[in-house]
Amino acid sequence: MPELPEVETIRQDLLPVVKGRVIQRVEVVDARSLKGISAKEIKKELPGEKILDIERRAKYLLFKLASGKFLVIHLGMTGRLLFSPDDWVRVIFYLSKKKVLYFSDARLFGKVRLYPHYPNLRLGPEPLSPEFTAESFYQLLQKRKAAIKLVLLDQKFLAGIGNIYAQEALFRAGIHPKRPAKNLTKEEVRKLHKAIKEVLSEALGYRGTSDSWYVDARGKKGAFQFRLRVYGREGEPCLKCKTKIRRMVMGNRGTYYCPKCQV
Ligand SMILES: [Zn+2]
Repeated sequence: MPELPEVETIRQDLLPVVKGRVIQRVEVVDARSLKGISAKEIKKELPGEKILDIERRAKYLLFKLASGKFLVIHLGMTGRLLFSPDDWVRVIFYLSKKKVLYFSDARLFGKVRLYPHYPNLRLGPEPLSPEFTAESFYQLLQKRKAAIKLVLLDQKFLAGIGNIYAQEALFRAGIHPKRPAKNLTKEEVRKLHKAIKEVLSEALGYRGTSDSWYVDARGKKGAFQFRLRVYGREGEPCLKCKTKIRRMVMGNRGTYYCPKCQV
């Protein structure tokens, strides 16, 4: 699933190309990709709209339109926003000056939605923002009894982290994924806070993790999958202590950890 670094990479690819262009026509290939709006309505409402900006919140892309409306796209598991079509195109946006933007989604967990104003997505803080401090993180964790890994995946708690980066951050910080969030010490929270910022920034620098579906707006893979330290490494030696990495299931998701380094 695309997480913060992947969605941000796509935003940075799209913005210089689509900013200032006008949506001239919309083609809905599969209306199951629309949420809260019909194919007929979106085809009527979007033409004539100029794209002023693209913002990212968590794993959402928010296209700011000149009328004040927001076109909001979530990529789900396999969603893509592409300048050239692939085999799973669901919605096509024809833009001015002959540019076309394709929303592709093989498994249909992604969604395209139109809001009349800035949407209230009920999300937690952005982990790369200056507002997300070690102190505020510690205070938020005090209220949570659940396992730290599951808390990190909760978008209302912290926005943009998914299964891969939660595990990478916990490995770097030396914290077991099942530890109750409120039992982490201040020092552990400080380490985890630093690890979250570092792993997300590094992954963004490598244009995301392409372990399965993710590609950028030009159809190119990211490169952070070659730099994962724990995710997907079951049975391989830990990069810190050589103990075999283990896999367990938490909240239906495969979770990798070092039984020695992560306590
Ligand atoms: Zn280890």
